[in-house]
Amino acid sequence: MIELARPEPDGAFAPPLNFLPGPVGIHRTVHEAFCQPAVSHRSEVFLEDFRILRRRLCELAGAQQVQLLLGSGTLANDAVAAQLSLSRERGLVLANGEFGERLAEQARRFGLEHRVLVSGWGQPLPYDQARRALSAGRFRWIWAVHCETSTGVLNDLAALKSLARDSGSRLCLDCISTLGAVPFSLEGVDLATGVSGKGLASYPGLSFVFHQRPIEPAPALPRYLDLGLYAHSPATPFTSSSNLMAALGASLDRAGAPRLRAELGRRLRPRLEALGFTILAPLAIGSPVVITLHPPRPAPAFDLGTLLESRGVLLSYRSDYLVRRNLLQVCLLGEHDLQQGERLLDALSEALTDLGASRYTPGNSGGPR
Ligand SMILES: *Cc1c(COP(=O)(O)O)cnc(C)c1O
Repeated sequence: MIELARPEPDGAFAPPLNFLPGPVGIHRTVHEAFCQPAVSHRSEVFLEDFRILRRRLCELAGAQQVQLLLGSGTLANDAVAAQLSLSRERGLVLANGEFGERLAEQARRFGLEHRVLVSGWGQPLPYDQARRALSAGRFRWIWAVHCETSTGVLNDLAALKSLARDSGSRLCLDCISTLGAVPFSLEGVDLATGVSGKGLASYPGLSFVFHQRPIEPAPALPRYLDLGLYAHSPATPFTSSSNLMAALGASLDRAGAPRLRAELGRRLRPRLEALGFTILAPLAIGSPVVITLHPPRPAPAFDLGTLLESRGVLLSYRSDYLVRRNLLQVCLLGEHDLQQGERLLDALSEALTDLGASRYTPGNSGGPR
């Protein structure tokens, strides 16, 4: 069993070093908040905590309102698809990686009238193509991911907002790997999703849909996906988890964490390249906290990931879409400090040597296989 977090007296967490996109490393105070006894989602305390949590999330994201759902990010994205299904208007899904493709798939499952515009892995979204498609006025919504977590590309929110504004369409955004990780404002974004267990460095289990306009209940939708039901309840219409909410509240108190993680990411990038890794997303469009790597030949990403895991360093490498492309990822979405970067680089360097990759000079990438 993988131990995700072992508290130490100073509040930091001992190995394994966690560079996963989730579940992420958790701070001791977050863990302690989670361990408080559960309280009823109908109690006064819960209602008050819920109100505060909502306000803090809205402030963080620059949104008017937020609904909290018990489930992972996919659930929140399904709730967005459910809202889009109500208008029966045509829309555009933009994709440049696994998670954009998933939005397209969710749109398809909901029977949304839509077209999908794709660009390659590690590339920016097809903004020009989208602008041309939107100019005819036949698409009324745009749906895209903010950070494409599979490639580490941070999509251009300003460009997406201007596409939406200029075409008079609604913008829907998956901010699941940017909420709490990079600063942004949802002004001009109609619906957006986020989660507790990635950039906010808490436990997985809560997901959010931010919205700018009031949402009315829609009896045609499945109850659990009807954001209007949530919006019209004093707290949550269904059973929730006070433990997850308390943990999230504690993680929101750790306001300095995102800046530190971005700094760590900026420092790691050139040094990973110096070890011979090729970074999939160019610097200009890369998220500072999601770094997707091709290992230097002849170390296959999966073998490297397995070896590091056996040494207590957790990288993301097991997802199908990574294995297929010989990729692995360093994610800085949880609790990190700058020393962890040194320990990661040492572990990588050692593992490369053990896999016979050390004789390869920097920049000699394995490339896609
Ligand atoms: C993690 C993630 C999701 C949701 O995935 P779950 O498997 O439901 O946790 C969706 N979009 C992006 C961009 C993500 O990073």
